Amino acid sequence: MDRYDCVIVGAGPGGATFARRSALEGFKTLLIEKESFPRNKVCGGGVTPAIRRLLDFDHSIVVERTVGGITFLSRDEPEDHTWYPDGMAVDMVSRREFDHHLVRRAVDAGAVLAEKTKVVSVRESTKNVMVVTENGDEISAPVVIGADGARSVVARSAGLGRAYGGVALEAEVYPRDKSVLEEHGDRAVFGFGFVPRGYGWVFPKKDHFSVGIGTTRGRMPGLISLYRQFRDRFDFLKEADEGERRGWFIPFCRDSESMNTHRICLVGDSAHLVDPFSGEGIYYAVLSATIAAETVLEEFREKGRLSQRYTKEVRKRITKDYGYARWCFDIFYASPSFFYKKARVIRALTRLSNKEIQYRDIFTELRRT
Ligand SMILES: Cc1cc2nc3c(=O)[nH]c(=O)nc-3n(C[C@H](O)[C@H](O)[C@H](O)COP(=O)(O)OP(=O)(O)OC[C@H]3O[C@@H](n4cnc5c(N)ncnc54)[C@H](O)[C@@H]3O)c2cc1C
Repeated sequence: MDRYDCVIVGAGPGGATFARRSALEGFKTLLIEKESFPRNKVCGGGVTPAIRRLLDFDHSIVVERTVGGITFLSRDEPEDHTWYPDGMAVDMVSRREFDHHLVRRAVDAGAVLAEKTKVVSVRESTKNVMVVTENGDEISAPVVIGADGARSVVARSAGLGRAYGGVALEAEVYPRDKSVLEEHGDRAVFGFGFVPRGYGWVFPKKDHFSVGIGTTRGRMPGLISLYRQFRDRFDFLKEADEGERRGWFIPFCRDSESMNTHRICLVGDSAHLVDPFSGEGIYYAVLSATIAAETVLEEFREKGRLSQRYTKEVRKRITKDYGYARWCFDIFYASPSFFYKKARVIRALTRLSNKEIQYRDIFTELRRT
């Protein structure tokens, strides 16, 4: 039986970030991933610039485009509204390359990567946690990080699972006329009214667009047909080849239940930390992993077990403001076009995306509008 100081299950942005920090602090670290890299992940791949403040290395090499513009449109309105607000700079990445880059940085720092290794359960006892893989291997560690995404096995095994979340569908759309990418490659598109309690997006990448549709509802029959109606809105996507359409869950945050036990801690999607207004999850996976590295590693070193400090920090730095995000959602989604036509709202949303202000401020702004 192998023993490590720390085992991380899932090598997405959350798992890779924690693994790097843990290895850099001298912990014998194992990062377990069921796929092998480079692997894809269903995602729009829009990353807000504030993530650069969290990562201790440059990831520009995997940024395919940086968009400074934003187009809003509604199904029942013929006119689109495009803005180029000061300070807007959202990076567009392909998760295949972005995640691989983060994993490489974890390995550079000394983490051991076990690919093609699916974890089927974890068992916590007073002294350690036993991680059991599909092949029947058992790995023991005093602390385990669940970073295994929206359908987290670790969360369920630890009794920290949450049963709800939204759904989304995404496809990579390759225009035959590549000049279309240059023409539309400087802005992100958000469309409202195509799906209840959600939106559609068109994000430009190096050689394709990520086109998708998502909702906070846990079930959405007919999502494929809603996706088609959204895609058909864009003439520039008509002459294009579409890759495989893939659906996945978006674990929108709806509560602030505990995110850790004495020896198990959840980060990112496994802890349901997706922004309930925007659906942004990559930044929060990296932020929660950073908070986990700051709290869990210290507690483990000093006390050998975890208190609720991690959960309290995540509440303070992430989910407390999500209460306002949910109110903003109800106000904004009641009439998106009323808000997105206002320069003041766009300025505020840009600052929010840069993490200069919080939903509490957006809430005030929307109520004033
Ligand atoms: C359609 C769609 C579009 C999205 N668009 C955006 C966007 O544009 N911007 C944004 O910020 N967020 C977006 N999100 C959300 C974002 O993808 C997630 O919030 C983010 O990936 C969370 O990172 P994570 O590290 O927590 O989990 P993940 O990225 O899901 O990584 C989990 C890892 O764990 C591995 N794993 C799972 N189970 C096991 C197991 N049993 N054993 C071993 N390994 C396992 C998986 O293979 C995966 O590599 C989108 C989500 C969807 C579904």
